[in-house]
Amino acid sequence: MTDELLEFYASEALTCPRRIYFRLKGYPEKWPEFVRVKLNQGVMTHNILGEILNRRFGFELEKHMVLRSSRLGFEIHGRIDAYRDFPIEIKGKTSLPRLPYEYHLAQLNIYLRWAESEYGYLYYVKLDENPHKVLKWIDFSSFPIVKGKNFKAFEIPYDEKLFKETVKQFYMVKKHYEKDKPPEGWHNYLCKFCPYYYICYGDNGHRL
Ligand code: SF4
Repeated sequence: MTDELLEFYASEALTCPRRIYFRLKGYPEKWPEFVRVKLNQGVMTHNILGEILNRRFGFELEKHMVLRSSRLGFEIHGRIDAYRDFPIEIKGKTSLPRLPYEYHLAQLNIYLRWAESEYGYLYYVKLDENPHKVLKWIDFSSFPIVKGKNFKAFEIPYDEKLFKETVKQFYMVKKHYEKDKPPEGWHNYLCKFCPYYYICYGDNGHRL
């Protein structure tokens, strides 16, 4: 029975539903080169910061989690960047946001739900060719509230309403999946970072 449940990812929470649909349907991903560069920098940042959290604070890295609902017919899989008795999610960004993004909050919120933690932390780290340089200056003295020049930490409480909204969106994508009908997409500035840009806009960049 479990085999038939549709698999969503926590990182897809409240992101473009059309993108989730294309992933579920197995369309090939085509990443633009500049996104690849960022992704690589992000991986390096995660590795270095993860190692500090693991060695110094005893966090488990890349902790796999699943929330399953047979009633709704899907499960949500996630890999928590760092987990001890609460989750920490690390985001590498070209510029640091003033406030956390809604879809990052929704992702962390899924981890909070799974871990039954009241609070979790979102760390934004400025991407750099040399992440060691950025991470060298971070002050861990008030951990888990960590401070630094190119770094921002947010303490986030669990939000039941946000969780319901997230589940509702996954359910909506599932309905579209079953009908073979892509949902409306975001069609905003984030499209140029999307691996399915070529489907929505065609190779010449016009919206299909
Ligand atoms: S290109 Fe934009 S609208 Fe299309 S799937 Fe990607 S994010 Fe969504």
